[in-house]
Amino acid sequence: MGTKGSEIVKMDTNELVDLLNKALSDEWLAYYQYWVGSKVVTGKMRDAVVVELTEHATDELRHADLLVERIIQLGGTPVLKPEDWYKLTNCGYEAPEDLKVTAILAQNVKGEQCAIEVYSKLVDLTKDKDPVTYQIVLGILTDEVEHEEDLQALEEDIKNV
Ligand code: FE
Ligand code: FE
Ligand code: MG
Repeated sequence: MGTKGSEIVKMDTNELVDLLNKALSDEWLAYYQYWVGSKVVTGKMRDAVVVELTEHATDELRHADLLVERIIQLGGTPVLKPEDWYKLTNCGYEAPEDLKVTAILAQNVKGEQCAIEVYSKLVDLTKDKDPVTYQIVLGILTDEVEHEEDLQALEEDIKNV
């Protein structure tokens, strides 16, 4: 990052990079959980669920991209090995072994609720300290709130089919 761009970060950048790498690991695991879930899901309203899961997978991958760009700007190194995702993750990975829409939606709701907590903390942490990271994590938090709402709306629709 440029010298002035660095100057305006009023927090420990190493600590911040570590937290962003943890979030990055979450995003990759969330991406794969959605993506593979969209392939294997079966049951009621399958088509609508596939569309939503695929959209969310794309969003999680975009979140990963935003985090990597910021990590590099901060002078950090993004997680380089998939095996480290499991060591760093906040929210973990739930394999969609039960292929029913209800089971897969429930797993992903849980993931989104964890993501909302993670980004909510990052928003609090960076507010007034690092406006650029703040804007990024606030944007991601906004998406995760929407993801949870979309999944819960689908759960309601499926109940009423
Ligand atoms: Fe995400
Ligand atoms: Fe999400
Ligand atoms: Mg959606």
